[in-house]
Amino acid sequence: MSRFWSSLTHDLKPYVPGEQPRIADLVKLNTNESPFGPSPRALEAIRGEAADTLRLYPDPQATALRATLAAYHKVDPEQVFVGNGSDEVLAHAFAALLKHDAPLLFPDITYSFYPVYCRLFGIPYEAVPLDQRLNIRIADYRRPAGAVIVPNPNAPTGIALSRAEIATLLEQHPDAPVVIDEAYVDFGAETAIPLVASHPNLLVVQTMSKSRALAGLRVGYAIGDAGLIEALTRVKDSFNSYPLGRPAQAGAIASVEDEAWFQQSRARVIEGREQLIRGLAGLGFEVLPSAANFVFVRHPAHQGAALATALRERAVIVRHFAAPRISDYLRITVGTDAQTERLLAALAAILGG
Ligand SMILES: *Cc1c(COP(=O)(O)O)cnc(C)c1O
Repeated sequence: MSRFWSSLTHDLKPYVPGEQPRIADLVKLNTNESPFGPSPRALEAIRGEAADTLRLYPDPQATALRATLAAYHKVDPEQVFVGNGSDEVLAHAFAALLKHDAPLLFPDITYSFYPVYCRLFGIPYEAVPLDQRLNIRIADYRRPAGAVIVPNPNAPTGIALSRAEIATLLEQHPDAPVVIDEAYVDFGAETAIPLVASHPNLLVVQTMSKSRALAGLRVGYAIGDAGLIEALTRVKDSFNSYPLGRPAQAGAIASVEDEAWFQQSRARVIEGREQLIRGLAGLGFEVLPSAANFVFVRHPAHQGAALATALRERAVIVRHFAAPRISDYLRITVGTDAQTERLLAALAAILGG
């Protein structure tokens, strides 16, 4: 079979997404989806697009959605790029902005899609180690680089950098593109978007998958200087001119317009996180400070892989990474109160037995 593959395909090491299993009565806390569901207004807008107009291609520039996002984030529409999930936006950013002779820098423990894109696009990179407490140290990024990408909050640790620290990072690399992946920013971190006006090298990437509960719709976007956005558009129009369908564009607009729902839903996640942290700490877990919709935890007396397996036997799934330095940690998504109770009860049983 593989004799038909290109050499590029042979050399790929694809990203492995968290599983989407079909287990009855599952408590699914492994892929950082929202437990609360999308805005009802977004659902209504999506339904409205299930119409005869689906025979027509969507707006290739997603003009209305970009205008809505621009108004929301107080930038110009020329400073907004949208894509089919932020993974696609990131892929275009890697191709358009992050490939240089000097290495791309990112943390050694971070979103594991980054090294995958580097292989796909042939980008040299250097992984910068987190410190002992799994924090990103901005001072460690003071080294020659073609570009930098950092998630804020970082994944899978959940630890956030301040906007001042992002500004320092930008000042260290005035001549290199710097991408801040803000997939989880709405759960307690400071967005870097206000820095865009004074930093033409800054690209901020956000997604509707987590805080807007639209992972199934696939909408992500980037905000940055118009010059950076033009680079992304050039790559997009060399790949797929119509990344967002009509239902996605309409649903995303309605979601942004439903500010009350958004604020309420993220506040509930933040409250749920604090409850989850108290419960886990009560069972003896060490919990890293999280500004995300998940927590990263370890138990001093139990191995991460064993805990993940034992939870799975009780129909609770969490994410475990068999990677150096973090193999004893579990990444647990904040769920509903009922899901958190089931998780904590399962852990209590496992630890007690
Ligand atoms: C979830 C996630 C994304 C991708 O989200 P999309 O669903 O593709 O928009 C990007 N970066 C990080 C760090 C994530 O956790």
